[in-house]
Amino acid sequence: MNRLVIPSPAKINLFLKVVGKRPNGYHEIITLLSRVGLFDTVVLTFDQPSISVDCSHPRVPQDSTNLAHRAASLFFEALSKHDGIAIFIDKVIPVAAGLGGGSSNAAAVLMGLNQHYGLPFTKRELMDIGVKVGADVPFFLFGHAAVARGIGDDLEAYEDLPPLSVVLVCPKFEVSTAWVYKNLNLRLTNCEKNFRNHKFEEGFSKVKDLLCNDLEQVTIRKFPEIKTIKKALLNLGAESALMSGSGPSVFGLFRDTQQAKKAIQAIRHQGRWNAFLAALLLP
Ligand code: ATP
Repeated sequence: MNRLVIPSPAKINLFLKVVGKRPNGYHEIITLLSRVGLFDTVVLTFDQPSISVDCSHPRVPQDSTNLAHRAASLFFEALSKHDGIAIFIDKVIPVAAGLGGGSSNAAAVLMGLNQHYGLPFTKRELMDIGVKVGADVPFFLFGHAAVARGIGDDLEAYEDLPPLSVVLVCPKFEVSTAWVYKNLNLRLTNCEKNFRNHKFEEGFSKVKDLLCNDLEQVTIRKFPEIKTIKKALLNLGAESALMSGSGPSVFGLFRDTQQAKKAIQAIRHQGRWNAFLAALLLP
C-alpha cells in the first residue's frame, strides 16, 4: 500500500513547571501531558522521488522547515536511504497555539514511515529521532498520558487521569514559544505548591489541584485576554481552566459533556474566540 492516512491529535499540558535553564539555553521542564481529541489528518504517499509537504493552512511552512518534513528527512537519514515521500497535512489544530500540532504531525510521519518500512526502529529509537525534531515529538510517539521531564524525552506513563471533556478556547492570535521562554523570569515561577516529590496524585480533585503552568504569567502579561478566557470558562461551568503550553490556547475541564457543549455554544455565540470540544485521549 503506498498511501497511509494518520490522525494527528493535539495535546494539552495539565501541569508545566520550569525547573531551570541549561547552559545551552534549553529550559528544563516537568510537565503532565495528555493527547486530546482534536485532530489534524496527515496523509502519506510513499515511493516519491523526494520529500514534499503540502498543508491546508496558509501560514504553515511547506518547505524543509516544516516539522513533518524534518521528521521524514531524519527517518531516511537514520535508515541510510534516499527515498522520498509526499506529506499532506489537513490542519485543524490551531497553529502556534500551545497545542503541539507541528510536533504531532512529525510524530505521525515517523510512525507512518516506520510502519511502511516494516518497523525498522523500536518505539524508543523512533523517540530518539523525534526529539531532534521537537521536544513534544517523543510524547506523541509514546501514545499515553505522561509526565515528561528534561527536554521532553524522559517520559513516564501517567495512569490516573479521569475521563474528562475538554473545551479548548483559542484566541485568534499566535504566540511564539521561543518568545515566552525568553521573557520568563525563573525567580517568579510559582508551580511548586502543586508539586509533590515529582509524583502526581490520583483522582479528579487532585488533577484540579495540580493544574498550574509557569508560562501562563508570561503570556498573560502580553495578552491579558487569556485571563478573560479562563474566567469565561469557569463561569460556564468548567471545573478548572488553564493555559496550555506557551499559549495562547486555554482549556477548561468539564465532568459533564452536555455542560461542555453548552459552554462551546456560548463561546462561539460571542464570536471572539475559536472553541473546540475534545476529550482527554486515555488508553
Ligand atoms: P510549540 O509549543 O511546540 O512551539 P505550538 O503547539 O505552540 O508549538 P505549532 O502549531 O506546533 O505550535 O507551531 C509552531 C510553529 O511551527 C509555527 O510557527 C509553525 O509555522 C511551525 N510549523 C512547522 N511545521 C508545522 C506543522 N507541521 N504544523 C504546524 N506548525 C508548524
